[in-house]
Amino acid sequence: MLRQGFTGLSMATWQCVKSCGACCFLAPEERPELENYLTPAQIDQYMGLVGPAGWCVHYDADQRLCTIYDHRPDFCRVTPQTFRAMFNIAAADLNDFAIDCCREHIGDIYGEASLEMGRFNQAVDR
Ligand code: SF4
Ligand code: SF4
Repeated sequence: MLRQGFTGLSMATWQCVKSCGACCFLAPEERPELENYLTPAQIDQYMGLVGPAGWCVHYDADQRLCTIYDHRPDFCRVTPQTFRAMFNIAAADLNDFAIDCCREHIGDIYGEASLEMGRFNQAVDR
């Protein structure tokens, strides 16, 4: 699940890369602003996903995959509708916003100089 982190514009095109999963680390202490973009019902849903180590209970850490991908919550989906609802982001700004969110997550989980960050940057800059 992506979180807020918009910092600027780019010519890159957002995409989720395989074997990442950085946004599936849901530890609420890392996301103190949840109430700013989720409804009370969504916060309940979110809290129900948080496993003992902070990762989503539906995250397969070995495969780095969502095990309920087709049924994942709205707040896990990068769409113009979900991002407008959560962050009041216009469709035209979704791409840059989502890229910044991913870079923030990947940097937090794997590091700014990680292979994961390199793979993401390579994918979105194509
Ligand atoms: S942080 Fe971005 S690239 Fe990584 S799994 Fe989440 S959406 Fe995909
Ligand atoms: S439901 Fe899936 S996409 Fe959403 S946080 Fe959990 S593992 Fe990640």
